[in-house]
Amino acid sequence: MSERFIAEHIKTLKPSGIRRFFDLAQSMEGVISLGVGEPDFTTPWSVIEASYHSLERGFTAYTPNAGLPQLRRSIAKFLSARFSVDYDSKDEIIVTVGASQAIDIAFRSILNPGDEVIVMEPSFVSYVPTITLAGGVPVIVDTHEHNQFKLSKDALEQAITKKTKAVLICSPNNPTGAVLDKEDLEGISDVIKAHDLLVISDEIYADLIYDEAYTSIASLEGMKERTLLVSGFSKAFAMTGWRLGYVCGPEGLISQMLKIHQYTIMSAPTMAQYGAIEALENGLGEVAYMKESYKQRRNYVVKALTRMGLSCHTPGGAFYVFPSVKSTGLTSAEFAERLLMEEKVAVVPGSVFGESGEGYIRCSYAASMKQLTEAMVRIEQFVNKLKAKA
Ligand code: PMP
Repeated sequence: MSERFIAEHIKTLKPSGIRRFFDLAQSMEGVISLGVGEPDFTTPWSVIEASYHSLERGFTAYTPNAGLPQLRRSIAKFLSARFSVDYDSKDEIIVTVGASQAIDIAFRSILNPGDEVIVMEPSFVSYVPTITLAGGVPVIVDTHEHNQFKLSKDALEQAITKKTKAVLICSPNNPTGAVLDKEDLEGISDVIKAHDLLVISDEIYADLIYDEAYTSIASLEGMKERTLLVSGFSKAFAMTGWRLGYVCGPEGLISQMLKIHQYTIMSAPTMAQYGAIEALENGLGEVAYMKESYKQRRNYVVKALTRMGLSCHTPGGAFYVFPSVKSTGLTSAEFAERLLMEEKVAVVPGSVFGESGEGYIRCSYAASMKQLTEAMVRIEQFVNKLKAKA
């Protein structure tokens, strides 16, 4: 095949570091994977049934581009009841193919070539490539363990230039589990308003928050008109494979995003949308059950890692812990690679989430207690072996 078939900017795009570990782990026997970011629960049964019934009734055609009106109304009701943000279901919401597509169309709609987007890191691996693919320039603001991996308003202020267009925040965060509370968000909002910026708020883990009430930045004074709220069904409802998310924002911007969505996707999968209505209308009990289970696992894993000498802040949300492996003298990639080869536990090196993730590993605790207990035994064995050699 001729090299010239491939666009130059795609040649330099690196494949996701998470996927590499995941594929390696899958090719080995007896591996416990704390590597992937998805629930170990299957989707609530009533959601599966609702989707199945929609197929039985013959609802197999496209939906309106922005999504089923009933689903958009359910999303608006859900966001209003839980997070006190009010969106008009008719023209302020698009149902997307996962939060992933929402993030993609957000950047493609707002960025002119060279526009800068501030991204807090360590963060989800898709942000930087998605910004770059949309012609924008990601500007990284590091977050740190000593500050519970929170984005500080001072660090944000310092990263702003004349070219800054938007700020991307994610709370609870992947991979750190960090939560930006109301006070943090108020500080960030002040900076955003003062510089007339837009915020893309990835709230996909908003329902998996363990110690406090969740605040959406869109609910703060003067922020709704400058916020694109991105969320979806993958995490809290255990629906990763359904590929369903949504984005909410000001009508003027949503209508522009809808054009890209219209031409590239048409509409999100119909049967998944019927399932999602059921999830929002009747699935919150199951979410509460899963959340309680994650919380117990989080507490167990944080304790176990701390006891074996891997310093670990207690994440307020999502289903990841992000312990430091600096004390072992290994880089995060060396630690993850050797742990996989020697003890058959898959974790993700923090470095794949940005430079400030170096020295940490991401362990997902969306695994059964049995698997987590065995994984902790193996990690401890590995750490003790390293200590004995030191
Ligand atoms: N945002 C974050 C922070 C994530 O962790 C993920 C999934 N790992 C996504 C977005 C994408 O989610 P979806 O399955 O809805 O595309």
